[in-house]
Amino acid sequence: MTVYNFSAGPGVLAQPVKEQIQSELMSFQGSGMSVLEISHRSSLYMEMAAEAEADLRDLMEISDEYAVLFLPGGATLQFTNIPLNLARTTGHVAYLNQGHWAQKAVDAANKIQGLQVDEIKQFDQTPTGLDYLHITTNNTIEGTTIHSLPDVKAPIVADMSSNILAEPYQINDFDAVYAGAQKNMGVAGMAVVIVKRARLENCSELSDVMNYWLEDQKHSEPNTPPVFCIYAAGKVFKWLKSLGGVDTIYQQNKEQAAMLYDEIDNSGLFKNDIPTDQRSLTNIVFTTNDDQLNSQFISAAAEAGLTNLKGHRLLGGMRASLYNAMPTAGVTKLIEVMQKFESDHKKG
Ligand SMILES: *Cc1c(COP(=O)(O)O)cnc(C)c1O
Repeated sequence: MTVYNFSAGPGVLAQPVKEQIQSELMSFQGSGMSVLEISHRSSLYMEMAAEAEADLRDLMEISDEYAVLFLPGGATLQFTNIPLNLARTTGHVAYLNQGHWAQKAVDAANKIQGLQVDEIKQFDQTPTGLDYLHITTNNTIEGTTIHSLPDVKAPIVADMSSNILAEPYQINDFDAVYAGAQKNMGVAGMAVVIVKRARLENCSELSDVMNYWLEDQKHSEPNTPPVFCIYAAGKVFKWLKSLGGVDTIYQQNKEQAAMLYDEIDNSGLFKNDIPTDQRSLTNIVFTTNDDQLNSQFISAAAEAGLTNLKGHRLLGGMRASLYNAMPTAGVTKLIEVMQKFESDHKKG
């Protein structure tokens, strides 16, 4: 039975990416050494990392005005690194808080003594004179997205963990963008940080792995970098380029999401109450409004090979994460299972 992984993270990896990783694992580029054991000071590694960076720059049209960093600690460590590098401990920052991950970013900023942290609920509440306004482009848990940015008079920093490379954003609209790799860019253990070089200064009071300026100077290697994560991300970038890049996958993501939202909207059993212009393409939440039915559905889906459809524990219900690597066949199968479940459980 084909298994389709709808997990919100770590997310599904494309089949060709997994196959390439498997076929190369014992000998990286004919070296007789695995990518798991090559030195990060070797030219083998350096060429691989440089290519991954170049491919990401291509995919997102990132100019040399921006550094591209591959860092340990996931998106969560960037919740702390972003303020420490871009506002130090004396700055003024604001957070657009529309979800649980945004709340985590606020909490991390609030731990920094001296930093002035404002929390806002809407863009039009943005204060003036900010070091940055932090936004979360896609609320992974709630299933909502900021698809286009309004005009705001503040430098924007975005946590793009769950929709980077899934829909087009203009890097030039941001002073920094960051994302954990394990949702749409590969495997867990790394964050990608894209940051305007003009914003960087040497924060030598920080650990080397937290100091963006130093990480940029040292090509993300002040210490041993997450070699396998960078390698896997490089494979994902090549795969995405071979499909036609972000615009192509964006069309596919829109089609897949439309199929599933149509099914939900036309169903007498499943519901999603999010206004259509805010609906996420990557994390689609739905519910029957009945906990018992929800768990029956999740079990029925798992039996059909559709795994990890359980919603986040804070929200309950279901969540189907349709990251770039989800094949359309997985969405079709999910819809089939939903229709069967609905006809088996028609009320009255
Ligand atoms: C998953 C997620 C994170 C946390 O990522 P880690 O790499 O696990 O630290 C942060 N922000 C958003 C929006 C996420 O979806």
